[in-house]
Amino acid sequence: MTDVRIATTNGAGKVLESGTVEAFRDELRGPLLAPDDAVYDETRKVWNGMIDRRPALIARCGGVADIIAAVRFAREHQLLVSVRGGGHNTPGIAVCEDGLMIDLAALRSVHVDPKHQTVRAEGGTTWSEFDRETQAFGLGTTGGAISHTGIGGLTLGGGLGWLAGKYGLVCDNLVSVDLVTAEGTMVTASADENPELFWGLRGGGGNFGIATSLEYRLFPVGPVLAGPVMYPFARAQEALQLYRDFATSIPDEVNTIAALMNSPEGDPLAAVVPCYNGNIEVGEKVLEPLRSFGPPVADLIAPMPYRQVQMLFDEAFARGRRYYFKSNFTRSITDEAIATLIEQFANAPSKMSMVYFQQLGNAANRVGAGDSAFSHRDALCEWGCDAVWLDPAEDAANIAWTRQVAEAMRPFTSGSDYVNHIGLETEEGADRIKAAFGANYDRLVGLKNRYDPTNLFRHNQNIKPTVRKSGVVADRLVPRSAGRHHSVAQQRWRR
Ligand SMILES: Cc1cc2nc3c(=O)[nH]c(=O)nc-3n(C[C@H](O)[C@H](O)[C@H](O)COP(=O)(O)OP(=O)(O)OC[C@H]3O[C@@H](n4cnc5c(N)ncnc54)[C@H](O)[C@@H]3O)c2cc1C
Repeated sequence: MTDVRIATTNGAGKVLESGTVEAFRDELRGPLLAPDDAVYDETRKVWNGMIDRRPALIARCGGVADIIAAVRFAREHQLLVSVRGGGHNTPGIAVCEDGLMIDLAALRSVHVDPKHQTVRAEGGTTWSEFDRETQAFGLGTTGGAISHTGIGGLTLGGGLGWLAGKYGLVCDNLVSVDLVTAEGTMVTASADENPELFWGLRGGGGNFGIATSLEYRLFPVGPVLAGPVMYPFARAQEALQLYRDFATSIPDEVNTIAALMNSPEGDPLAAVVPCYNGNIEVGEKVLEPLRSFGPPVADLIAPMPYRQVQMLFDEAFARGRRYYFKSNFTRSITDEAIATLIEQFANAPSKMSMVYFQQLGNAANRVGAGDSAFSHRDALCEWGCDAVWLDPAEDAANIAWTRQVAEAMRPFTSGSDYVNHIGLETEEGADRIKAAFGANYDRLVGLKNRYDPTNLFRHNQNIKPTVRKSGVVADRLVPRSAGRHHSVAQQRWRR
């Protein structure tokens, strides 16, 4: 190992001498990867094929002790840090350019306690592993709608999913979180222990530390009655109106997604996807209005294991394709909003792209806006535009289209983004990130001041602290050229 040039939180950067890096490597049970390692390129890749950032070092953590060591090392050297859970975040905030990526991908153990109907899963677990283990006991809880998404990022940002009509958001079913704070110490957060931190971890994102494991409440789940029913694009306006009326009058057992998308043959369609979690015969009656509106192009609603509905869209969002998303919360779906979405979808440059509504869920709506950090409890759904394509030459056209759709839909939204879909401040601007936390932002700043006053965890949907601990240099990301006092080592890095 030679000296390592690495980014720091003050933007100046520095050189870590080889002995310092070797000592850090010796502290870790998992590998410490640098660009010349054979598996470096594979390890820095995340789900979105558009993301091509190159961390100076990747600590592929082998356990909690490695996470603590990595945080302490980053803190001591004031390194720019990113945290990778499932690696699914669309703007790719799990990977930082030139900094230290703390990678939890190897930490995926899931332990179910069937007696108490709880589960504890490590911070790098994906929903696929989570559902596999919990469903082995006939249990489940609200989880994201794509099985290869990570539980870490999704839960800490809130977590929309199929079971939210009955059980609330993913974060509403958190029992406790074990967290390594920015000081490199372990804390447990639950309703009884560090309750304010526990409040902030349910919607505040990765701002307060690294969740080494998360414990959830479980419920008996499945089989469910679920699947898409598809209508001709010519009737998309009526189909989405039917969807709106259905979604606003359903029992807690149901949650829904609706989308405009293309069939594998490239024909545009309107699709409504319900998931009924309850008695299947009753579910047949509840879902009947969606099936009798027609005739549909295809009706694939059927009883299926809960794990199967969790994987329904995995293929449509396969790893490594190019993705660019925009979304926003919506309190109601007007006829005009539907017409706008249909018009905009027709201009999509890629046949793989879609626009959608994902419902929050009845039980999720009943939680108070201040009861957890996730504040958007009055939203009916999140609307989104997901551009998906393969050829880098088509990046500009697809990004421009997504932004254009978002602009056209802006009048019909609450104006607040979902924390889990918003990117870095450089892309989104500070105001939009602040708005994503809604009325809870100031309370979250209080927690940030307490648990991460130097803003070590800044490569995320960043809540900025307003206090700084003395003796620690960490304020804002400044351009490399803007540094004032550079050591010789820093100057070498800057060349
Ligand atoms: C195709 C697709 C479908 C989606 N579907 C849904 C859905 O149905 N419901 C929904 O709510 N969201 C959904 N999302 C959004 C999803 O919640 C976010 O992308 C989320 O960031 C993914 O979590 P991850 O752990 O895989 O993220 P990563 O990319 O690994 O991390 C993103 C950020 O999360 C934080 N983080 C991750 N793990 C930890 C941890 N253990 N401790 C501390 N911080 C951590 C870090 O700040 C990190 O930078 C979807 C996204 C995509 C791309």
